[in-house]
Amino acid sequence: MKAIVLKPGTTQIQVTDFPDPIIQKETQIKVKIIAVGICGTDREEAIGGRADAPQGEDRLVIGHEMLGSVVEIGSKVSKVKVKDRVVISVRRGCNACEPCLASRSDYCTTGNYKERGIKGAHGFQSTYVVDDESYAIKVPDELGDIAVMAEPMAVVQKAIQEAILLQSCRMNWIQNPNWSQGKVACVAGLGPIGLLACAVLRLKGAHVIGLDRAPPDGIRAKLLKAMGGTFVNDKNFDMDAFRNKYPDLQLIVDAAGVAQFDFNLIELLGPNGILVLTGVPAEKPQFPVNGSKLMRQIVLKNQIILGSVNESIQHFIDGLHDMQEIKKKWPGVLEQFITHQFHYTEFQKVFEKHGSEEIKAIIRWDK
Ligand SMILES: [Zn+2]
Ligand SMILES: [Zn+2]
Repeated sequence: MKAIVLKPGTTQIQVTDFPDPIIQKETQIKVKIIAVGICGTDREEAIGGRADAPQGEDRLVIGHEMLGSVVEIGSKVSKVKVKDRVVISVRRGCNACEPCLASRSDYCTTGNYKERGIKGAHGFQSTYVVDDESYAIKVPDELGDIAVMAEPMAVVQKAIQEAILLQSCRMNWIQNPNWSQGKVACVAGLGPIGLLACAVLRLKGAHVIGLDRAPPDGIRAKLLKAMGGTFVNDKNFDMDAFRNKYPDLQLIVDAAGVAQFDFNLIELLGPNGILVLTGVPAEKPQFPVNGSKLMRQIVLKNQIILGSVNESIQHFIDGLHDMQEIKKKWPGVLEQFITHQFHYTEFQKVFEKHGSEEIKAIIRWDK
């Protein structure tokens, strides 16, 4: 079969012949890849960062946001059958810590987990993949290609569900079981994670304000508005004007991962508000912060700053369900999130810069 392989720590990346994966356990499934999404992690890997080959090997098949079709199943597989469309999760637990033993490797405490396409395990940019059925989630047929965004959608599910869970459990005077109904929420950074977060929050009845540097007449603003959200260009961001206009921001989701801007977001948070960080900032540069003022504000306003990474299988299931609902409520919008598609033989093009006109770029293996 073919695969896109990278020599970790270098920019050497190519399509090459690779041995076909074989079912070796009765609970495994073999999947033919339809398409694989590309995100910031892949881009980081492709310029020589953050990728580890499996032990004893010097190259890594990249890709962690996949959609595929089952072509073969082991004798004890019960969740899926041949021809089912599936997505497969990314992280594999360390098998030693409490969360991993409880199938919540997203909370791994040892750091010895593996991630397909990122850390110590081959990814999904290949003709076929094999994995245990326990990591596969069946995709409803009507979702079509947009299910390739199931992994970023699962990231969004975890972040938003945990924020809402924390808020609704401490604000026990709110009788509405849907805490976010009618609340003002803000999403910073309208890439795929940010726009999916906007969609989920709109579905949950929140007023959504999306912040991005993209032009107000661009695709990001257009899609946000199509779902009833409000677009704010933050290129020349006026903090005070924004705070005066939205004094009661109850939930902010950061999907930009710009550390300096994240501190601005804390300042924008209303009383009893929660800021969820999903974007991974670079380690540098260092910058000065008025720490005393911020800490005082967080205490006096009962605020929560929550970090959220990765996801569980249940978040994939919930995300696919929400995608169906979003598709019904705003037909044709999710499809437009996929702005760029390339055949795997042209994979280099996916790494070219497409600016804010790109939301999700994918590589196709089915044509
Ligand atoms: Zn990703
Ligand atoms: Zn672990």
